[in-house]
Amino acid sequence: MTNNNVKEIEDLVKIISKLPGLGPKSARRIVLKLINNRDELVKPLTNTLAQVYKNVTKCKNCGNLKSNNSNCNCFTKKYDQICVVENIADMWVIESAGIYKGQYHILGGTLPSFESKNSNNGLLIESLINRVKTNSVKEVILATSASIEGETTSHYISDSLKDTKVKITRLAKGVPVGGEIEFLDDGTLFSAFKNRAPIKVD
Ligand SMILES: [Zn+2]
Repeated sequence: MTNNNVKEIEDLVKIISKLPGLGPKSARRIVLKLINNRDELVKPLTNTLAQVYKNVTKCKNCGNLKSNNSNCNCFTKKYDQICVVENIADMWVIESAGIYKGQYHILGGTLPSFESKNSNNGLLIESLINRVKTNSVKEVILATSASIEGETTSHYISDSLKDTKVKITRLAKGVPVGGEIEFLDDGTLFSAFKNRAPIKVD
């Protein structure tokens, strides 16, 4: 830090440059924009961040983000389809492609490919089984990545759901091998969804 630098500003630059897609240079540009718009940006941002910090948490039932001020819609809505994804970014991609409008279940990651089949590795799988049982769900769509970990996870889940007799489908093989849902284009995602096929449990 040089003599001309203000500590508060340097601290803010440091934090902002940790955000995805931003380096120190763009972080500085953002900080400058903020400081030049104290009332329009800094004040509302401070308030909004405080609210997010206080109120936004992950729902323990579906893994989606929820506000502590209201019930998660996995409790308030009726549904008969659940689309299972690895993370929230994947859900946002599918949502914005407009392919699927139903309920989601966010696992919080994938199982490592070498893990024994008995461990769910902290993923939200137990609550998925409960959701299927208590909501008379007709179809579970597995939209995990086309990677070894994604496949392992999808098999583990279909195995865990075997007794519920729910129809389990997997996105079609149009998803390139290793393909992460988050980075697929809308067209590929659309055809993978449309051509999803029932999964075989051995
Ligand atoms: Zn929920």
